[in-house]
Amino acid sequence: MTDTLRNTLVEAGRILASEGQGDYVAGHITVRLPDQPNRFLMKPAGIGIEEMTRDNIITCDIEGGKVEGAMPRHNEVFIHSEILRARPDIACVIHTHAPHAVAFSSLGKPLLPVGNDGIYFHNRLPVFSETTDLIIDQTRGKAVAGCLGPNQALLLRNHGVVTAASSIEEAVWVALKLEKACKVQLMAEWAGGPKLTAHTADIEPKNKRANRGDLHVNVFNYLARCCARLYR
Ligand SMILES: [Zn+2]
Repeated sequence: MTDTLRNTLVEAGRILASEGQGDYVAGHITVRLPDQPNRFLMKPAGIGIEEMTRDNIITCDIEGGKVEGAMPRHNEVFIHSEILRARPDIACVIHTHAPHAVAFSSLGKPLLPVGNDGIYFHNRLPVFSETTDLIIDQTRGKAVAGCLGPNQALLLRNHGVVTAASSIEEAVWVALKLEKACKVQLMAEWAGGPKLTAHTADIEPKNKRANRGDLHVNVFNYLARCCARLYR
């Protein structure tokens, strides 16, 4: 089971980097261990998110301490530990410095249903603005978890994104959708600002169709195949 999770984590890192969410050695992803819910696997510090291997992934506990692995842990571990503590339904947490999302967060505007991705976050994208600094202690980690609430994603203003889901595949999918939604709205902003958005009556049915539950696995597997060609 752990081997499967480690393999999927490695694939997730490659997908996030290939989709423009790597930031040199910054950004991280974690997955809760099913048989030890107070522990989780994490990308180690000091390497790119696409450089994870089954062997260099570290294990941390719910207090944010490293309990296994040779490589160092990220000082922002508390984003992960506190969301996993607050949300038993969540298995995977991702934090990246997705550039369009960071730029969009500086506008101080709500994310609008400009395209298919934007509707996914309609009225459920909190923005964490308590600090624009890194999240390097439990207090700030708890504040981020509180800001996330029952949602799957938030913007860390002037910093990055956080996504959380019940599987690695879904958390990756949400991170990719959020970056794309921010990019599309930024493009509309560059052209004078969006004047038309999805009809309110379309949002719910369109969201169900464009964001079906099986899509995240299909998209993840497709991108993993693309990455396998890149990294072979
Ligand atoms: Zn960060």
